[in-house]
Amino acid sequence: MNATTGSVSTQLTEATSRAVTLKNARIAHSAITATHGTLSFLGPRIETLSSHHPMSSHIAGDHQIVADLSGFLLMPGLINAHDHLDFSLFPRLGEGPWRNWREWAATIHHPDKSPVKEHLCVPREIRFWWGAVRNLLCGVTTLVQHDRCLPCVFESAFPVHIPNDYGWAHSLADPRQVIDRFRETSDHAPFILHLAEGIDAAAEAEFDELASLLPLDDRIVFVHGTGLTAAQWKRAEQVGMGLIWCPVSNLFNLGRTLSLDHIQCHSSVALGTDSPLTAEGDLLDHIRFIARELQAQPALLYELVTTRAAHLLRLKRGEGSLRSGHVASFIAVRDRNRSPAETLTQISWEDIELVIESGRIVLSSMEMAARFPAELLEGLESIRINNIERLIRAPVQMMLRETFKGLGFWPDLSGRKLGPSLGPHTNPCRLLQPSDMPMPWCTAQQEKDQNIEAEPAEIAGLPEDCHGNVTSLVF
Ligand SMILES: [Zn+2]
Repeated sequence: MNATTGSVSTQLTEATSRAVTLKNARIAHSAITATHGTLSFLGPRIETLSSHHPMSSHIAGDHQIVADLSGFLLMPGLINAHDHLDFSLFPRLGEGPWRNWREWAATIHHPDKSPVKEHLCVPREIRFWWGAVRNLLCGVTTLVQHDRCLPCVFESAFPVHIPNDYGWAHSLADPRQVIDRFRETSDHAPFILHLAEGIDAAAEAEFDELASLLPLDDRIVFVHGTGLTAAQWKRAEQVGMGLIWCPVSNLFNLGRTLSLDHIQCHSSVALGTDSPLTAEGDLLDHIRFIARELQAQPALLYELVTTRAAHLLRLKRGEGSLRSGHVASFIAVRDRNRSPAETLTQISWEDIELVIESGRIVLSSMEMAARFPAELLEGLESIRINNIERLIRAPVQMMLRETFKGLGFWPDLSGRKLGPSLGPHTNPCRLLQPSDMPMPWCTAQQEKDQNIEAEPAEIAGLPEDCHGNVTSLVF
C-alpha cells in the first residue's frame, strides 16, 4: 500500500481526547419522552446527562469542548438489524413477486450480465464502505452485516459499528453451513439466518428442517419468517426465538409481509432494511412507509430500531438508549417539538444533521459543522447527495474514483445521486482531476462516451491484503 494509508486511516479513526459537552438540545429518554439538557461524552462513552433550562449557560473548563445545539433533538443512533453491505450500490433486481427467495435468486443471478456485471467490478471493500455511508446518511450507527465480514475493513476506522459477537448462516440452502457456524458461535451470542422467506410449502417446511438441525431457543434469530404457520409462530414465541422484520423487502419479493399483530405479539423483534437488491430506500424511508401504509404506531417503530433491536442482538455497549455510561452513539435532527417516536416517523435522510458514533463525529451537515471546533472535524470528507452537502468520515474521494472506474458511471445510493463536493471541505489532495472525470450531472451515456482510462488500482486507506477479485455473487 502507498504512503497515504497510514495518514488516511489515522484521520478516519482519531477522536478527541477532550470531553465534549453538547448543551441546550432536547434529549430523548424514550420513545415518548425528551427533555432539554446537557450531554457530555469523553472518548466513546457518555459521561453525564443533566436537565436544565433550555437557554441556561453551561460552565465548562478550558479542557472541555462545548457546542450549542439549541433547536436540535438528540436521539440514540439507529440500529439496522439486517443488511448486506456488498450490495449497497446495486439497483433492485427482478420483477416479482415470487413464491420464495430461491425463485427470486434464480431469476436475478446473472453475474455476467448488466447491471450485475458492472457492479461486481467495484471492489467489495469499496461496496462495504458505501454500505456504511448509506446507513450513516439515515442515522444508523450500528448494523448487522449478513454476509462475509472482512475484519480488515470493519476495523476501528469504519464509521458504523458492526458488532463482532454474533453468528450467522445464509439460510437452509446449505444445512451443513448452518450446523457448522452455529457450533462456532459463542454460547451467549445470537445466531442469525434467513428463514421461511416465502409464502409456499417450501418456506413453511424450513422451520421444521431447522428444528431438526439445531436446538431452537432464544439464541436463534430468524430473518423474514413470512412462511411460518400459526403453530410454528407459537413455538418460536414459546422458546424465545428472535425475529428480524424486513417488510419493504418482503413486499417487493413476495407481495406480502407479516401482519402488525405478529410484530406486536412477538416479544423479540427488530427491523432491518435488507439489501437494495430487494428494498429501495434507506431505514428512515422504510420507517415512514411502515407508519403510513401499515399503520404502525410510532413508539413501536422507535423501539424496533433502538431498545428492542439492542435487546435482540444482545448488544453490550448501551446502544439504543442515551444514558450515562452508554456508548456515545447518537444523532441530531431539527427539533419539531414532537416526541422522539413521532419525530422518527416523519424525518428523512436530509434531516439527519449530525451522527456521532463511539464519540466520533462521523456525519455532519455544513451548518452543524460550524458549531464544532476543527479538531472534531478532521478526517471528514465532503460529498454531495442530490445536491445536499454532507461531511462524512469516509475516504469519499477514493470511493468515488474506484466506483466510477468499476461502473463507468456515477453511482446511486438509495436512489440518490452521488457526487464529489466542490466546497472548501473537499480533500485538498484531489484524487480526481476535472479533466479525468465528468461531473455527476452528466448522463450515464455521456459519461461512458468520455472513455475514462483506468488508473492503477490503489485503494488508499485499506490494507493491501484486503484487495481481492470478486468473482461470484452470493445472496
Ligand atoms: Zn437478507
